[in-house]
Amino acid sequence: MGALPVFRWRLAPDGYATRRQLRARGLRPGGQPVVAQLERPRRRRGPLVAYLYRVDLAKPVRPMTPARRAALAKANAARRTCPQCRRDAGYVIPASTGTCALCTYLDASDSLRST
Ligand SMILES: [Zn+2]
Repeated sequence: MGALPVFRWRLAPDGYATRRQLRARGLRPGGQPVVAQLERPRRRRGPLVAYLYRVDLAKPVRPMTPARRAALAKANAARRTCPQCRRDAGYVIPASTGTCALCTYLDASDSLRST
């Protein structure tokens, strides 16, 4: 960095926007590199810097599609499924036990019996 064009605050050329400004328009940088920076001079401190992206290269924020929604629902169902009995426990399997309450209970009574 350092070779980037620098513009004064509020004097950014048309077609450039900060990440925040893109977001306000429903856009995201989309993997493009920073193309310029804005600097607002401050007294006795380094300037305030904001990075600029090209609006024409920005991509729309990923919308919630039915496929994406289904993938999320599936991920949530997986988090509720007990890895031991393969049943949907109806709640997220606690990381502390790693199994549903029933399996945790049965495991505990097994170990009581075997001792
Ligand atoms: Zn279970």
